[in-house]
Amino acid sequence: ELANRMAEKGADLVKALFKMGMPVTVNQTIDQDTAELLVTEFGHNIVRVSDADIDLQIDDAVDEDVALQPRPPVVTIMGHVDHGKTSLLDALRGTDVVKGEAGGITQHIGAYQVTLKDKSKITFLDTPGHEAFTAMRARGADVTDIVVLVVAADDGLMPQTIEAINHTKAAGKPMIVAINKIDKHEANAQRVRERLLEHEVIVEQMGGDVQDVEVSALKKTGLDELIEKIQLQAELMELKANPDRAAEGSVLEAKLDKGRGPVATVLVTRGTLKVGDVFVVGAESGKVRALVDDKGRQLKQAEPSMPVEVLGISGTPSAGDQLQVVENEARAREVAEYRQGVLLQKRTTAAPASLESMFSALKANQAIEYPLVVKADTQGTVEAIVASLNKLSTDDIKVRILHSGVGGITESDVNVAAASGAPIIGFHVRANAKAREIAERHQVALKYYDVIYDLIDEIRAGMAGELGPEA
Ligand code: GDP
Repeated sequence: ELANRMAEKGADLVKALFKMGMPVTVNQTIDQDTAELLVTEFGHNIVRVSDADIDLQIDDAVDEDVALQPRPPVVTIMGHVDHGKTSLLDALRGTDVVKGEAGGITQHIGAYQVTLKDKSKITFLDTPGHEAFTAMRARGADVTDIVVLVVAADDGLMPQTIEAINHTKAAGKPMIVAINKIDKHEANAQRVRERLLEHEVIVEQMGGDVQDVEVSALKKTGLDELIEKIQLQAELMELKANPDRAAEGSVLEAKLDKGRGPVATVLVTRGTLKVGDVFVVGAESGKVRALVDDKGRQLKQAEPSMPVEVLGISGTPSAGDQLQVVENEARAREVAEYRQGVLLQKRTTAAPASLESMFSALKANQAIEYPLVVKADTQGTVEAIVASLNKLSTDDIKVRILHSGVGGITESDVNVAAASGAPIIGFHVRANAKAREIAERHQVALKYYDVIYDLIDEIRAGMAGELGPEA
């Protein structure tokens, strides 16, 4: 690629690198410093065309103050299991004044937006709990503005309540405490407030500045007050975004839909996403074919803080991936291909060839690794399969998932598997023609399953076979 751009022979570059003490092959990736050195060596000028050529950032220009417009807050609900997170999300959904309008059929797309009587809006992330929250944060997709901590007044502070408090604090997010199930006889809101003190959450009634509100998700009481407190908190934060720019967003969830192809729920973070926009999302690219909101309505565009399903993606991205609108399809493909290369390199360098690792493991008297690539039709299935496979690990042989993901088996999956001699598991998904061709060439085994039980059984047998008859 570099040789091409300099109009030099690849072999000459390899030779020059060899002289520089870097024995590489022509298809190997070299780092940026080396590339720059090489370009100068060949008497060319370095022109960095754009950051997209080398990095994932496309346009990180800071929006000017004048362009910034207020945007709705994005709220995540956290709390202990059974304290009423889901019930509260459902109840809050009911406060939407647009809900009753014609054609409005609730769609669970990972987030929803309510429009209030005063026309203002609030976005709620629909996956309660701190796992999703921390996972998104770990991926750099920190979309939450405000956390609502649900504590059941009859049960009080529980382990996950405390975890949620810690995660919220670590993320530096403001918190509003919703003391739920206030309709119950055993409810003791004051006790909750006192116990919160122990975790340095000082609510207003206790002289602190954390807002708290008593609610009943079941009887739908206190909801207006909770909404007011969210709005108040949002006002304090002066949440803003520039709607007049190329859109950016974060993927909340993605799936391969049987009828519609890859579908991702994207929360728009800046700009306005429009039908027809060309974009890059993770290592995929596409052109917005349709935007669908949480009420199943087709939209022409989506503004900041709005969650929408995006159709027209080349493959299934991952939760936490960033979507960026770019100027044209050629550029979108270029960036996506570049990212696919980066991903591939990360995976292959992280996975030593299995024979080699087996020998060194044997030498060190460690467990042998059993590498696998897992592809399935939904994120939930992928997670379930990976969890079950990991449980098959013993002291002698360990399952090592090189890569897992949603969607059909692609060329890049086969490449990852080939580097480690790993079989690829397809659950309710198959390999495309190109992937099959490469798999055959590299003798990568493609194993298709429709029943998890069969899958686990066969892999367990395969692992036993690897250990030989003595084991
Ligand atoms: P999650 O696990 O935190 O999502 O909790 P759920 O929303 O599934 O609620 C757990 C249980 O508590 C369910 O049986 C709900 O019906 C019940 N529940 C939720 N909110 C209330 C409430 O305000 N009052 C009463 N009495 N029960 C509630």
